[in-house]
Amino acid sequence: MDALSLNEKNVFDVASIKQQFPILQQQCRGKPLIYLDSGATAQKPESVIEAIRHYYQYDNANVHRGVYQLSERATQAYEQVREQVRAFINAEDQHEIIFTRGTTEAINLVAHSFGALQIKADDEIVLSYMEHHSNIVPWQMLCEKVGCKIKIIPLHEEGTLDLNEYAKLLTPRTKLVSIIHVSNVLGTVNPIEQMIALAHQHNIPVLIDGAQAVPRMPIDVKKLDCDFYAFSGHKLYGPTSVGVLYGKRKWLEAMPPYQGGGDMISRVSFNKTEYNVLPYKFEAGTPNIAAVIGLGAAIQYLESIGMDAIQKHEIELTHYAQQKLSQIPGLKIYGHAKDKMGVISFTLDDIHAHDVGTILDNEGIAIRAGHHCAMPLMEYYKVAAMARASLGIYNQKSDIDALVRGLLKVKEIFGRYTHRE
Ligand code: PLP
Repeated sequence: MDALSLNEKNVFDVASIKQQFPILQQQCRGKPLIYLDSGATAQKPESVIEAIRHYYQYDNANVHRGVYQLSERATQAYEQVREQVRAFINAEDQHEIIFTRGTTEAINLVAHSFGALQIKADDEIVLSYMEHHSNIVPWQMLCEKVGCKIKIIPLHEEGTLDLNEYAKLLTPRTKLVSIIHVSNVLGTVNPIEQMIALAHQHNIPVLIDGAQAVPRMPIDVKKLDCDFYAFSGHKLYGPTSVGVLYGKRKWLEAMPPYQGGGDMISRVSFNKTEYNVLPYKFEAGTPNIAAVIGLGAAIQYLESIGMDAIQKHEIELTHYAQQKLSQIPGLKIYGHAKDKMGVISFTLDDIHAHDVGTILDNEGIAIRAGHHCAMPLMEYYKVAAMARASLGIYNQKSDIDALVRGLLKVKEIFGRYTHRE
């Protein structure tokens, strides 16, 4: 284990990790910044910022095209990250790793391309009640186009999926199951291995939205046996505008291209165009090369800490936050799954989440407030909005303590203060 992350007592050394993030060294509103919005986007360590700067300063050229040294270097760096990603999620081979703009584009790619291959009128796609909009709307668009239907796995009040109902939804009409790994609202870690195995008993492929899971736990796509797995670089301490679609080779080979243009072809004439091999078939046009290189640096950084250690840290801190926040009178937490991590959403008395967020901002504390791109979940819990604290590798118990003090202040300002410890 790298000395950066674990000291000799084998303790996750958050203070030294935090030192690696220049943005976290500043004050906001005259107070030390406490960043509790990593679920929206994570901050970037120095090594990621430096990798991007280095690329633009020394290696910038287009990939897969040039015959000169710079282009060779850029291509090599870009393709090296593909191998890094393959190893990071334990995919079988590099051709199964497609670079996209993020989770959203990865899911749209599958909806468009797998949809064209496999999904017809009256077929069914199974989603869950806790999906992010990016795993709802692309399927609704496909339904509008081909006349397929969406079936929804219901929730238990505690924020877990009803697996008995899930089993009943799998029928010969089901052509795909597409579910979230870790909920961005409830923090629930869904039992996806079990859910994938059940779908496979019916020969139904499964897509996993791993946007909130990949930054928080080791992912092994071979062990999970998922057919597709999507995630975003910017939630993984890397840059925006890069993400990954993992797909089993048998599907990606059979699926038609998503977009047409440069790099995704092997031969073009006005009569007929032949498409490139995997993974290039799905990477039309000049990709975000610098972001891919930044993603490689982020993965290297996380591996130097160790994904097992990160998972342990996230779980411990989530339990601490859950316990501390639940002691605040009038605060209601949404999501009480036994297997929960990284995210705590709540409402506070009848105070609007935006007011909570604004007052906390005055204390230098950054949280998210709103519908969290999960309006069906807001409807389920009958709230217009929630406040959400989401954790990262640089957060520690003192950040949660500051959040608790900030929330007591919110209550005081709104005249709801009833309790002092
Ligand atoms: N899925 C989940 C669970 C998310 O939390 C998010 C972003 O918040 C997304 C998908 C969309 O990710 P992106 O905007 O990076 O494409």
